[in-house]
Amino acid sequence: MAKKVPHSEISYLVEAHKQKIIELTKKLIRFKTENPAPANAQKIGGVLKEEIECLNFIKHTLKSSGFKIDQWKQETNFQNLVASFQGSGNGRSLLFNGHIDTVPMGEHEGWKFDPWRGHISEGRIHGLGSVDMKGGIAAFLSGIQTALQLNSNLNGNIIVEIVSDEEMAGKGTRECLKRGYSAEAAIFSEPTNLNIIICEPGLIHLRIEVYGRRAHSSTRYKSIQAGGQGYGINAIEKTVKIIQAIRELEKQWANMKTYPPLPLGLNYIHPGIIVGGPGGGKDGKLSTTPENPGTFPDYCSIEYELKFYPNENIEKIKKDFMRYLHSFCQLDPWLKTHPPKVTWRIRDIYFPPAHIRPTHPLVHTVSHIHQSFGREAKTSGFEAVSDMCWYSSQNIPSIVYGPGEIHLAHSNNESLSIDDLLYATKVYAGTILQWFN
Ligand SMILES: [Zn+2]
Repeated sequence: MAKKVPHSEISYLVEAHKQKIIELTKKLIRFKTENPAPANAQKIGGVLKEEIECLNFIKHTLKSSGFKIDQWKQETNFQNLVASFQGSGNGRSLLFNGHIDTVPMGEHEGWKFDPWRGHISEGRIHGLGSVDMKGGIAAFLSGIQTALQLNSNLNGNIIVEIVSDEEMAGKGTRECLKRGYSAEAAIFSEPTNLNIIICEPGLIHLRIEVYGRRAHSSTRYKSIQAGGQGYGINAIEKTVKIIQAIRELEKQWANMKTYPPLPLGLNYIHPGIIVGGPGGGKDGKLSTTPENPGTFPDYCSIEYELKFYPNENIEKIKKDFMRYLHSFCQLDPWLKTHPPKVTWRIRDIYFPPAHIRPTHPLVHTVSHIHQSFGREAKTSGFEAVSDMCWYSSQNIPSIVYGPGEIHLAHSNNESLSIDDLLYATKVYAGTILQWFN
């Protein structure tokens, strides 16, 4: 029979270790693990020195709790750490995942407190990465310790993955999967304000390159007046037409598609970068640096971010998008014969969508434990994408659940509520004890 989770003991231990948990969070904030790192940052074998130091510090914490360590450098010069705790029986396994890299600090003047100190003020820990997501890592490390203190004889394995490359290429978690790490369920402790995230959209970046025809700008009247025969072809103006057409497609899709609990219209097609001018171009870049608008631009490239719902299929989206663009181009004599070039997944940016059944035991366990410490449990969708998608797309049931408000991530004056940090710690500890019951 399942044992009851000892809520009061968990609460007592976490409150008793409050200072230790705060110190752990501060310690993690003090490692300068910006991604990308500043040009003058010290490196060892190509890897950021402070990243190695941060991982080594976490490694020692886990080792002393009986974890076996696997630490390695991935091809792109980031280190990953996976620690495994061997349980005593054949129970279900549970995986925790967090990233130690942060976005760059930005302007120092914008910070009220030193971003590297973990200054405490009004019940909050201030610093870069406090929310995204060193607080989350400190919480699950402390939660694991608390759980093991209450029951060192777990019947299944705990796997902890600490990656250093999430904010840029986001390869760290995929590296862990490639290395064969897996579990029956996974928790990603990104900041969710302690909401249980059960789904997130997919995301892909794409580029549309539009070609025109060079001509002296003084022939413009031949291009825009009746009977001009389309002398010069302005790639920028053709691109504007395409942008408007895609805006229309975005509206159609927003109107037709839904996936609660994700917000309506989250399936956007967002134009983010536009580059155009005379002299030709390739791969989103102009061949020369034009300084004279007196020539017809013959190249224009526009890059989009496209998001889609978990009940959609990326291949179908690509097909629908291409069919729409093709149909639109049939209406324009130039575009009909000079179709734009579309490149999907530019810079390798593609995140599959993620979702978990709301009745899955992982969602049930975390909701139940969250509620048992006094706050109402809320399940919701994530508006951004996270590393959860890599596990979810391998059919490993996953959620995101962590302390901190997402709107403070990537902002100056990032700070984390200590109450929420401790609450998350309790929920992680309780979840472990329940999961391995
Ligand atoms: Zn993050």
